[in-house]
Amino acid sequence: MSLKQNKQIILDRIAKACNACGRDPSEVRLVWVSKTHPSSAVEEAIALGAREFGENRVQEALEKFLPQREGVICRIIGPVQKNKLKKAAQVAQAIDSLADLESVLKLEALCEEANKNLDVLFQVNASEESTKSGLSMQEAFDFLNNLPEPRRLVYKGLMTIGKNTGNPEDSRDCFAFLRNLKERILGSNPKFANFTELSMGMTLDLETAIAEGATMVRVGTALFGER
Ligand SMILES: *Cc1c(COP(=O)(O)O)cnc(C)c1O
Repeated sequence: MSLKQNKQIILDRIAKACNACGRDPSEVRLVWVSKTHPSSAVEEAIALGAREFGENRVQEALEKFLPQREGVICRIIGPVQKNKLKKAAQVAQAIDSLADLESVLKLEALCEEANKNLDVLFQVNASEESTKSGLSMQEAFDFLNNLPEPRRLVYKGLMTIGKNTGNPEDSRDCFAFLRNLKERILGSNPKFANFTELSMGMTLDLETAIAEGATMVRVGTALFGER
């Protein structure tokens, strides 16, 4: 199957999932997860209209997304080691996997130095699988409330990875938890005026995520093929 065909299948899945729950498909953005795939795949996707990409390793993002292309967004969707934050902030327009205060403070300083703004999402480990990173469900609300006033960062919302069981229904509770958390936080304080994004849903469970309010789905395998 070609990338073009895969794209159409995914757009159809998104549209159908939106229709099923009365949402407008324009409310759900597709993040093309290009990790492990070469720059040529990224170029092909851009030619098909892709504008937003997800990479989980900073080094790989640097290789594929610098120099920056006009209108193309690179999101870092995997955990970033502290010593890679500077490079992450150079290559990415958004980091979706923040889960500790030290990294938030460090990114603020780096962005101040570079005179740039950066969108961030906070990752919650809502499946409570020990292999996954992110804030625990218990600590997430307090952690967010205690965040400092953002300066260069824009607190945009939350990210999670559903349960890895093969059955998308098993992820529903995680996604619902994220939506509830976002609704409690959004507008609760001026620092959360822009806290509207829910990045959740991947190849196997994007329909469930959309039903629970996803504003971004992150799709790799169903677009670019097996890794
Ligand atoms: C790899 C990855 C994806 C894409 O997963 P697929 O199942 O291939 O669609 C989405 N989100 C994160 C955080 C990832 O690491």
